[in-house]
Amino acid sequence: MRWQKAVQDDLRSDIDVEELARRLDGRLTSLETLAELSDSTREIVRVRASEYGLLTESVRHAIATYPRRPAAWLVGEDSATSQSSVSFVAQALFETLKDGHREALIKCLPIWSEVQAGCFKSDQQMRDILKIYPNDDATRSVADTIIRASWGARRGASLATNPTQFDSATDWAKIFWGTNSMTSRCIRQRELDKDGEPAVDETSEDGSPASGGAQEGSAHLQQLMMDLMSSYCEALESAPSPLYCQERQEVHAGLVSRVSREVITALGDQDLWCMEHGAHITRILVEVRIYLQWMATQEPLIYREFQEYGAGKAKLYARSTREVAEVGASIGIDEAIQEFERLSHNEGHIDHRVVDTRDSFAGGKSVREMAKENGLLDLYRRAYSIASGISHSEWWSVETHCMERCYNILHRGHLIPSLSLNSGGNDELARSWVDSAYSIMRISLSILGTESAAVRSAFEWMGAPSQENVGE
Ligand SMILES: [Zn+2]
Repeated sequence: MRWQKAVQDDLRSDIDVEELARRLDGRLTSLETLAELSDSTREIVRVRASEYGLLTESVRHAIATYPRRPAAWLVGEDSATSQSSVSFVAQALFETLKDGHREALIKCLPIWSEVQAGCFKSDQQMRDILKIYPNDDATRSVADTIIRASWGARRGASLATNPTQFDSATDWAKIFWGTNSMTSRCIRQRELDKDGEPAVDETSEDGSPASGGAQEGSAHLQQLMMDLMSSYCEALESAPSPLYCQERQEVHAGLVSRVSREVITALGDQDLWCMEHGAHITRILVEVRIYLQWMATQEPLIYREFQEYGAGKAKLYARSTREVAEVGASIGIDEAIQEFERLSHNEGHIDHRVVDTRDSFAGGKSVREMAKENGLLDLYRRAYSIASGISHSEWWSVETHCMERCYNILHRGHLIPSLSLNSGGNDELARSWVDSAYSIMRISLSILGTESAAVRSAFEWMGAPSQENVGE
């Protein structure tokens, strides 16, 4: 404050007071423009700063760390970086960020400059509080709040009159943070925790320790899932089958087989037992359940349409693979085309296969719509959407699973790739997959109307009580 007043007194006769007040607002970029107004200003600013103890050795060195800094003449044109200067700036930033009073003191610099130039405007209440700031303990925190709150408003008002006013300050901020990224390295949480020792994430994502007999648990769950799948097949095969219109049972068996195979494979690798790496399992489980329940409410023709939609896609893929072959054949491409052609079931001389390019087999109806029509919207919202978000790399998922905050204060709190792997092993999640897959099997058998004696016999090994708990 005293430095501001002294500089203003020295220059008041040469420069308009409002201009002067604006150029002593605490920004280096403002000082730069002050130097442009008159030849004598650089010397006055420097001498007065030394006089009031603002240009200490540490401050000089800290400023000199930044090449292309505004008002470079303040400490001489040379640039040099030292570890102690970097730490000095880091400390200053840290203390300002964690201390609201310090932040307010810095944000009060433009106000003080205007007050001393006699051009500050505000209501009486703010003037009364600022008069005794920051020495009055009773009103200090109120004043801090008013100052911090008015910072953005004052900035907005300035920008309304002059939209480019802070351009050079913004450019300098880019230089400041850019330089920090060169002069100091990122710091990860685990370096703070273990004093430089790389840490191993020993807890699963829900914070529970990875289970001890995990290997056993994994083998047990996988075997259970395989047994369930065998029983599902057995029930279908031992009961009378409507082979005259076979599509419905084919689609059911196909989709149940699809989810079971995914779950069985995932159960074999505990690294996948977490939402980061196992979201696709949750997603497919919900999706298949919604498909099966929605199709059950449609005309029986829907099962054939489901198959034909897929056959059409196979034809499309055969075509696009052929385009690749025309550009330059690669190994196995002819076999790939043949396989897609076979799966498009378009044999013969007439090309009858329609390629439906809408988003789903149900005339483009979304999974969400299907869920809504069957009272499964909550399941969709609570499980499918979240799992989809992970599959589609929505930022929240990337942020929580793959990134961590850099603990170097000079780096502006940016996010950096996490080097800790998710250890998976979430037993509850793995069990929930088995439960969901089993539910789907029971729902499927119920929709198909598979003879109850066959179902009972196939799942007899599970015992009666557990059968009552499953299904929904
Ligand atoms: Zn960093």
